[in-house]
Amino acid sequence: MILLSAVASANDVVRHTLSFPNNGEQLFLVRSEFPVSTSVTELIMPNWTPGSYMIRDYAVNVNRITAVSGDGIDLLVEKISKDRWQVDTDQTNTLIVDYEVHTPEISVQSSWASKAFSLINGASVFLYTMQSRELPQLLDIVTDVNRGSVFTAMSNAPEGRGYRADNYDELVDSPVVVAKAPVYRFTSRNQDYLLLNVGESEFWDGEQAARDVEKIVAETQSFWKVNPLKRPFWFLNLIVEAKGGLEHDHSTVIMAGRRQMRDRDQYIKWLGVVAHEFFHVWNVRHMRPAELADYDYQHEQYTGQLWLAEGLTSYYDSLLMSRAGLIKPAEYLDLLARDIYRLEATPGRLLRPVTEASVDAWIRQYQPNSNSVNSNISYYTKGAVIGFVLDTYLRKESKNRHSLDEVMREMYSLYSSKAYGSDAFEKVVVDIGGPGAGEFLRSLLTTTAELDVDDALDWYGLKLDRLKPDSDEGLNGEPPVSGLGVFWDGDKAGMVVKAVLSGSSGFDAGLIPGDEVLAIGDERLTADTLNSLMTSFRPGEEATLLVSRRDRVISLDIKLDVAIPDYYEIKLKSDYRKSHINRLQGLLGQNLGKQ
Ligand SMILES: [Zn+2]
Repeated sequence: MILLSAVASANDVVRHTLSFPNNGEQLFLVRSEFPVSTSVTELIMPNWTPGSYMIRDYAVNVNRITAVSGDGIDLLVEKISKDRWQVDTDQTNTLIVDYEVHTPEISVQSSWASKAFSLINGASVFLYTMQSRELPQLLDIVTDVNRGSVFTAMSNAPEGRGYRADNYDELVDSPVVVAKAPVYRFTSRNQDYLLLNVGESEFWDGEQAARDVEKIVAETQSFWKVNPLKRPFWFLNLIVEAKGGLEHDHSTVIMAGRRQMRDRDQYIKWLGVVAHEFFHVWNVRHMRPAELADYDYQHEQYTGQLWLAEGLTSYYDSLLMSRAGLIKPAEYLDLLARDIYRLEATPGRLLRPVTEASVDAWIRQYQPNSNSVNSNISYYTKGAVIGFVLDTYLRKESKNRHSLDEVMREMYSLYSSKAYGSDAFEKVVVDIGGPGAGEFLRSLLTTTAELDVDDALDWYGLKLDRLKPDSDEGLNGEPPVSGLGVFWDGDKAGMVVKAVLSGSSGFDAGLIPGDEVLAIGDERLTADTLNSLMTSFRPGEEATLLVSRRDRVISLDIKLDVAIPDYYEIKLKSDYRKSHINRLQGLLGQNLGKQ
């Protein structure tokens, strides 16, 4: 049999070797060895990391790139576009490339090189060629005892040292951590898990964290009823004063604060990230929108489905913490109230439907500006609240026979092996909840109508207290609080406006982001006097704002409004009955009798 030269042979693999320059911080050295079969080969650096929908142009961190042939002859490397280099490979069938990768930021989607710990996210480090994406990728990490060990969910290479991914996608999907750090192992339903805690200190109880993570994985596995994991799953937890999490098939990278475990609210946030990223193994890794079925590492991949992939994952991260018994019902309701508050405190919800916010993820979600609060809504926040009202609708209309849980599992059974189209979710909702449920869903997704959270809460015997003082009497009999309708820039020394809510008194007065408000009337405005001034002025009173704008002092007339509430609370209604308790128990998976 004759193999065409353009076809990769069964023995073809790409070999990457990553090392650290002597005493180097923020720098990797990479050698990548590609089989080549064309006279010219393009080396390509991804522009984004799957799961974090923003163009990041990783090629900006690639320097000193050189190439030689398999027998050591120098090859000319020419930069031809922002993310590509071209090499003449006419005379060779092996292309060996050396390059430096600079790592300027610590984040879950990019890479970080340091003596204390290193994180390697493939999309920000490894080049590929048009011919190499489907080839097995071998990775060797050259480290030493001082830097510590290598941790990754990738399989060990079949021979020799290092690791093996089936293809470039798997390499990108397999973050690697190099550090000296403790590992906690546990098995749940015959599936192995490992929790790595980089930066663990006296403030972080690794054993306790592992026990809590175990409860989350058990609850999540029992929710989905099918285990897609083929090998041990790694929770790569970096306690490094950065925040976030990113999902992968067999691991997740999570970042935490050093003292986060010592504060109950903050620890619940960390557990929420664990629950969120693990839920993603099913919802977005294995069950994926059609637009993201095959990754294009160079370009935006627009999808209107991130309310499902991210928003419903956010809905379930808190819910599964409750069902796992990690948070009390009151703590769950507090998390729900915060989501509703964030939604209703964002005027942008009235301008952009959630499907459009999803398509716009690439230009809006990850790079907010001072007008974002007025022009955009987070598909995480609105998606989570959509989860709650849709779930409640399905439960209520079916007299508790159906729920969103069933919809999610049906989606998974239909679309875990093939990507879903834009109408797939609605079809499943109609199959389970009837045509009315489909109509209800469509309105949640494609319009900017307010979500009727009060109606949904009412079904559980709950009500939302928006804690907004009315104009006659303030909260708890206190005087009402006046407001300007602005967010302050906490990084600046003076009272500098970060954003102005459209429709607020500050907006009507003409305040703009960047303004420093020096005084209201004759009263000096500082962080210390803000609260007392806002309670002294009554809603409806008129005043003059003294403002420094681009180093000129101007005055603006304002009619003060009631303050925007700082938070919402979910409370029991006075007619709370046994039927309400049963409904809430069904949702929260906890026996409320004990509370
Ligand atoms: Zn997510």
